[in-house]
Amino acid sequence: MTEDYITMNRSDNVLIIGAGLAGMKAGLLLAHAGKKVYLVESLPLIGGKVIKNEESFPNLECSTCMVAPVQQDVLQNPNIETLTHSAVEKIEGEAGNFRAVIKKSARYVSMTDCIGCGMCFDPCPVSLKNAWEEDLGERKAIYVPCAGALPNVPVIDPDQCLQLNGQQECSACADSCMFGAIKLDDKDETIEVDIGAVIISTGAETFDASKLPELGYGKYPGVYTPFEFERLFASNGPTLGELTIRDSEKTPGKIAIIHCVGRQQVGYCSSVCCMYSLKFAHFIKSKLPDAEIFNIHSDICLPDKNYQKFFNKVKESDTTLIYSPSPEESKVSQNGSGLKVVYTGADGKEQHVEADMVILSGAVIPHPEGSSVATIAGLNLDSYGFFEAGKDDIGSVHTSREGVFVAGSAEGPKDIQSSVIQAESAAGQVMICLGEVNR
Ligand SMILES: Cc1cc2nc3c(=O)[nH]c(=O)nc-3n(C[C@H](O)[C@H](O)[C@H](O)COP(=O)(O)OP(=O)(O)OC[C@H]3O[C@@H](n4cnc5c(N)ncnc54)[C@H](O)[C@@H]3O)c2cc1C
Ligand code: SF4
Ligand code: SF4
Repeated sequence: MTEDYITMNRSDNVLIIGAGLAGMKAGLLLAHAGKKVYLVESLPLIGGKVIKNEESFPNLECSTCMVAPVQQDVLQNPNIETLTHSAVEKIEGEAGNFRAVIKKSARYVSMTDCIGCGMCFDPCPVSLKNAWEEDLGERKAIYVPCAGALPNVPVIDPDQCLQLNGQQECSACADSCMFGAIKLDDKDETIEVDIGAVIISTGAETFDASKLPELGYGKYPGVYTPFEFERLFASNGPTLGELTIRDSEKTPGKIAIIHCVGRQQVGYCSSVCCMYSLKFAHFIKSKLPDAEIFNIHSDICLPDKNYQKFFNKVKESDTTLIYSPSPEESKVSQNGSGLKVVYTGADGKEQHVEADMVILSGAVIPHPEGSSVATIAGLNLDSYGFFEAGKDDIGSVHTSREGVFVAGSAEGPKDIQSSVIQAESAAGQVMICLGEVNR
């Protein structure tokens, strides 16, 4: 970047990395204030983790009904350029005067010509596990990650497509598309944008339960991660919401939900796991009223004024709450055709419950791409690996680099409400930053 560029071309535009609720909400606020927003999302769809949930605590509102209008507003706002299936590769410059390089991966389907009819999926001869559905469902090489995905335009996976990976000639999807929307000669693009400020809203992930082999994840089909369970319960998920055990038609009669999985390893309480574990108990009761549910917990973390009410409601619903000083040290083993969960009871002695299904409520951990985004953006991570914010300014969304802000679970585990509040705060700070530097 030349000296002239730095002094001559101050920009009022904003780059947002990550199109979950935090990124979308910040983008909409800035767009309504007249800023041009580049919203970059690595996946082919926007919405983040919340669209994996059928319903969200504490009010159990339908997540799709909550998020879809936000997604639509984002996609229709003329001030927001949404770049899905894209990655930021470089951010140079300084507050008010950054230049970012964005790689937009080829989608192989025209965003303008496709009407989202889905006629191209069936003819595709390639079937594989759908990672977005936590590998519980299948997809084709041309696919949308889930029913209701927005934008509702498929993407072709070039590693799996027989034509694109050179295994054999194939144009079955293109032949079936009446709108000529499939572009097998599509190419990746590199885009350079001038921006004045950046918001990082890349979200978080959940603890990899296979790191605690005693819990049986990956060994027993009846053991589930939290997002696997969210997709199992979801009516647009791989079983259309039917609660059956993986690789079988069996409906679980007894379900153990183990809280705090990975808490000791990560070294903090994730604040949302108790609430989503209680939500799961409520979900199960709503579909399987006769099921026996055991929530094996240590502390019950209810950090919001509305959460106690939800907890009380779940307690009344015949869910057995079992205190264990260290639930994540439980041991899951085969027990006939079901499973046995051995845990340490309140008296310090070993106890056990039998279960057909075990849900491992994992800690919220930094997104695996967080450190590469931090390197690209020149930011510090905190000691846990989340983006460091407000080091010298309590409650702040400022990062270690002026003009770059953080929002949502990229900064640490949070519920939806706190993520959105932080996004609004980051949008406000961007306005101040741009106002100051452009004066
Ligand atoms: C199992 C589970 C259930 C939950 N249920 C509830 C609930 O019922 N109610 C509630 O209030 N909260 C719930 N939460 C918390 C809720 O999921 C978060 O508050 C919310 O997702 C945070 O939104 P976000 O936008 O910060 O991050 P995310 O939703 O994670 O979105 C981040 C986005 O950034 C994208 N991204 C990541 N890296 C990059 C990159 N390098 N470049 C571009 N894009 C990138 C991701 O693909 C994603 O789309 C739950 C959490 C878990 C783990
Ligand atoms: S690419 Fe064509 S067939 Fe496939 S969803 Fe779009 S319009 Fe329909
Ligand atoms: S060209 Fe690729 S994506 Fe299209 S049908 Fe063939 S294998 Fe599937």
